[in-house]
Amino acid sequence: MATSTKPQETDFSRDLLGRYVCNGLDEALASTTRVDARPFDMIIVGGGTFGSALAEHIWFRDATHSHRILVLEAGPLILPEHVQNLPVVGVGFSSATTLAKLFQLSAADRDAWRMDVWGLPWDSNLDFPGLAYAIGGRSLFWGGWSPQLLGAEMVAWPPQVVADLTGRYFAEASDQIGVTETNDFIFGDLHQALRQQLFAGIGAVSNALPLASLPDYPAVTASLSVADLERLLGFQQTTGMSQQQLLAMAKLEAPLAVQGRPPHAGFFPFNKFSAAPLLIKAVREAQLDAEAAKTPDVTMPGDDVKKRLMVVPMCHVVRLAFDGQRVTRVLTNLGEVAVPDGGVVVVALGTIESTRLALLSFGTAAPFDRVGRNLMAHLRSNLTIRFPRTALPGLSPAIRELQTSALFVKGRVSHPDGSVGHFHLQITASGLDAVGTNSEAKLFKKVPDLDTLDRLRTTTSTEVVVTIRGIGEMEPQNPANTITLGGVPDEFSLPRAVVAMSPTAKDNALWDAMDRAAADAARVLAGGTNFTVVQNQRDGLGTTHHEAGTLHVGANPASSVTNPDGRLHGVQNVYVVGPALFPTTGSPNPMLTGIALARRMGDLLATQAKPVAAPGFTVLFDGKALKGWRMSTIKNQGSNNNPGHFIIVDGALEAVTGTDIGLLWNTSPLPADFTLRLQWRRWSDFDNSGVVVRFPDPESKGYNNTAFVGVDFGFEVQIDERGAPDGAPLHKTGAIYGQPSQAFSLQPALPIGVWNDYEIRVQGNSYTVLLNGAQVTQFTNTIPGRGLPSAPGAPSFFGLQLHTGRVQFRNIQIQ
Ligand SMILES: Cc1cc2nc3c(=O)[nH]c(=O)nc-3n(C[C@H](O)[C@H](O)[C@H](O)COP(=O)(O)OP(=O)(O)OC[C@H]3O[C@@H](n4cnc5c(N)ncnc54)[C@H](O)[C@@H]3O)c2cc1C
Repeated sequence: MATSTKPQETDFSRDLLGRYVCNGLDEALASTTRVDARPFDMIIVGGGTFGSALAEHIWFRDATHSHRILVLEAGPLILPEHVQNLPVVGVGFSSATTLAKLFQLSAADRDAWRMDVWGLPWDSNLDFPGLAYAIGGRSLFWGGWSPQLLGAEMVAWPPQVVADLTGRYFAEASDQIGVTETNDFIFGDLHQALRQQLFAGIGAVSNALPLASLPDYPAVTASLSVADLERLLGFQQTTGMSQQQLLAMAKLEAPLAVQGRPPHAGFFPFNKFSAAPLLIKAVREAQLDAEAAKTPDVTMPGDDVKKRLMVVPMCHVVRLAFDGQRVTRVLTNLGEVAVPDGGVVVVALGTIESTRLALLSFGTAAPFDRVGRNLMAHLRSNLTIRFPRTALPGLSPAIRELQTSALFVKGRVSHPDGSVGHFHLQITASGLDAVGTNSEAKLFKKVPDLDTLDRLRTTTSTEVVVTIRGIGEMEPQNPANTITLGGVPDEFSLPRAVVAMSPTAKDNALWDAMDRAAADAARVLAGGTNFTVVQNQRDGLGTTHHEAGTLHVGANPASSVTNPDGRLHGVQNVYVVGPALFPTTGSPNPMLTGIALARRMGDLLATQAKPVAAPGFTVLFDGKALKGWRMSTIKNQGSNNNPGHFIIVDGALEAVTGTDIGLLWNTSPLPADFTLRLQWRRWSDFDNSGVVVRFPDPESKGYNNTAFVGVDFGFEVQIDERGAPDGAPLHKTGAIYGQPSQAFSLQPALPIGVWNDYEIRVQGNSYTVLLNGAQVTQFTNTIPGRGLPSAPGAPSFFGLQLHTGRVQFRNIQIQ
């Protein structure tokens, strides 16, 4: 709950970020209760990596402002971006363990394990490091390796998903997380020398895929010349290599999600990707939008009602209430959130907790009987070696400090039954110096202090340290690998996820082959010299953070859990993001694919209805932008120069009034005779607005308030249920404002919040107004110089008036 509208203070700091980014659930719920409030129609359960990525993606693409997005996250806001982009504060990640072992620890030791943010909610015999309970989730801590799935790794994926990923979303995700620009982060002599060594010897790495068979490195575009490729690969001089050779060499570059160079002049670099910064940007934009939507009208003070994206931290979702068709409520430790008709819930709790929520909410009867099966992670090994720098012929002895390198090898293993499995080698290297033998650590120390930099520069590295981390695909559909419910109840007395995972015979065969390939690569990199093995070990299956597959997509409900859009079979309005959707994992680490799928889902969910023109009519407002419209202006009125403005809400224009009347006018000249159709609604009977037709260019008369050109030279079809100031028909909704000689048959508008149809027919001097299909007035203009039809050289226009309240308009079209 939000206990204060102001940032709170601890003994040490003022929590500006927390207050500026987050809302309490109480604030979120209160913002849905007012008469003009909209419910949250997109509820994202889990504000970790992919939940945050989805929320911001929908926010930035919702041009018609049609959605209200609510992110419910169990953890607090801890960091605004990846821990490695920040000063070293010591926020790290926990070690892998089991719940049983944690229960045996003292409270103090358990706290130490948690490192403030980590939690292990599930039960297993395997060691797991658990989840980072924080906005941004594990993306605040992840390593950055982001290879792309090959087509051969996605044969079990629905074809339309594969087509969308390969045709668009892999590339977009690669750009978003900074993989496309890897080379700006890794460069230098050590990198060049090791890459050359690997390029020359790749044929000796068993089961490595031929470079020619692999897709181009993400930064490669069809138009790159030999010189461009040499530049891309960091060569200072021409190499004499062919374009094909250079393209092949580029495929050894590590696909790292770090962008060290600004994407555009005047920008800062993205550094290492995490999901937090864009979510924060989106939520701040949402706040500013809400503030811009506030109106000085005392009857309707502005508040969070207009905030279209809210992030609620410390909100633990415990269950989704399911009525057999759709989820109607999201139940949390802080209260429940109603899911409106047409609203969707997206589950984004990481694979294991997302699966648990599905099991808790929907059970295990068909069509949910496949939930929790097909659990996969990755087979992972680490080989660290050291060897003398003299083993690298390309390395100048004049260079003292060896910098860092990161390289990538892709492999495939064929099994005796003809099936295949994939692996890749993540190779990192550095000189042996003060940082020791952890080349990964050195690679990812992004924020150096000057002393460290100085120490690195003056180090004399006599040895090279290389770590080869193998990541291998696990077989899908292993019946032994499951997530079920059980174990010791959690703090909400609910069953936990129980995770079982073990390798198959084929997994073990692939693991062995991958380790052999790593040993081959070690020999190649060491250039045939003797090397010392510093570390050679396999990681536990639970340690990778790559769990996947238990809610996997598929076209056939009998063999999958979610449809190709990521929606749960059997539930109309629940979607899933994250690796839980993967039918197979291939060898790639999950981030790139996860972001690609989140973007795809965002586009699917944010699809907006376009206004449809009636036959013979032209749409004048597309629901997205005010192109072709202009606001009237006020001058010489001191502090009262604000004509108000319109904001876009759910594809409609909503009046935000200013200090005097305003007019949003369409800059396309009206036809001489025309029929104008539009819809409008009000939020109070005190709302006052109107549609003003047939006035000249408001800027042509030298008025201080140009809106009065409409009043004086055009005619206003009134919107005012009260008929201010006197309740007379000529001042009421449907009337031509103030004109005494009209043939009225006025009727009340539809109730507050309901859209009304206006049709305004103007033929010669005759004005006919229809309200909700019934004619309400007919007026013949006899006033000279007023309501003149458009003529060549003397165009007339129409506009929407701002007077009081927040009247909305949509579906504006003309014949
Ligand atoms: C140290 C490390 C290195 C890694 N390196 C790589 C790498 O190099 N390449 C790669 O591709 N991947 C890597 N990963 C894995 C990658 O980070 C994860 O796959 C990814 O971040 C998972 O995202 P997610 O959204 O599925 O889960 P998370 O980011 O964990 O998000 C889940 C969110 O759900 C919240 N939550 C849980 N339960 C509830 C509840 N009941 N109610 C509300 N909220 C809840 C959590 O607090 C969390 O914020 C690494 C991970 C770590 C930790």
